Amino acid sequence: MAALHLNLFGAPELFIGDGDGAMPIHFDTRKALALLTYLAVTGKGHTRDSLAALLWPEGDAEHARSALRRTLSALTTAIGAHQIEAGRQTIGLHPESTLICDVARFQTAIAHSRGHGHPPAAPCSDCRRWLQEAAELYRGDFMAGFSLRDSLEFDDWQLIQAEHLRREHAAVLDRLTALLIDEGDFAAALLHARRWLNRDPLHEPAHARLMQLYAWSGQQSAALRQYQECAHILDQELGVPPLQETTALYEAIRAPRPAPPPPPGAGGRPRPAPPRRPGAPAPPGPARGAPVGADGFV
Ligand SMILES: [Zn+2]
Repeated sequence: MAALHLNLFGAPELFIGDGDGAMPIHFDTRKALALLTYLAVTGKGHTRDSLAALLWPEGDAEHARSALRRTLSALTTAIGAHQIEAGRQTIGLHPESTLICDVARFQTAIAHSRGHGHPPAAPCSDCRRWLQEAAELYRGDFMAGFSLRDSLEFDDWQLIQAEHLRREHAAVLDRLTALLIDEGDFAAALLHARRWLNRDPLHEPAHARLMQLYAWSGQQSAALRQYQECAHILDQELGVPPLQETTALYEAIRAPRPAPPPPPGAGGRPRPAPPRRPGAPAPPGPARGAPVGADGFV
């Protein structure tokens, strides 16, 4: 049976088959894609009533249930009835479904590294590979550009998922850059630190990580420019200066003899707490100084 690929990072895409033989699948109704997404991301079956209330919250229950039947029919016609297990009461993915969802793979990779039985900051090449896989899978925000418009319930669920996955991605990049630094691979760490900052330009620990990496890579002027960029964006967007720790790092890099990089595999990088403004409530969404992992400055 051909694999069905549901890609939900970035604009949603559905394909059947692999490589050059992969064919896109389009639905007549956005609700069919919403239904498949909900089943794939939650990874379990749901009652028909709850799915009907999620996708057609404004109609009466009978109308919503019949709309769900029609949408389920459109879905199984497009992807094959064998992919879905639809009972009288519940609907879910079939246990032998060939669906492969990028969000599920992302979460599995993170779960592998979290369950690896060692402190999060310990050097580990297996964890580094899992985190690299997770970082590669995150091609954009969850279901970017997709909305049902007539279902606030689904839109709310989608927004909560998007925010959760965005934070997970930031935590992945935080830990991945720390592991790459432990391995002495500053070039790869720089690449991921830039991605981290591109996704969240107000995240001060990402600016600090990038400054430190530039300094360790011998790019002192890039490190100092990064501080200026950090100060500029914080002033523009939040009307605040960089935190004392960030400025102290800037001063240390500007010193005639900045601190040398840690030796590869040392696993003993100094790990002060992430910069955080005392007393400041954590704003919703990607936040300045939000604790995204065990590491802050390096
Ligand atoms: Zn590990």
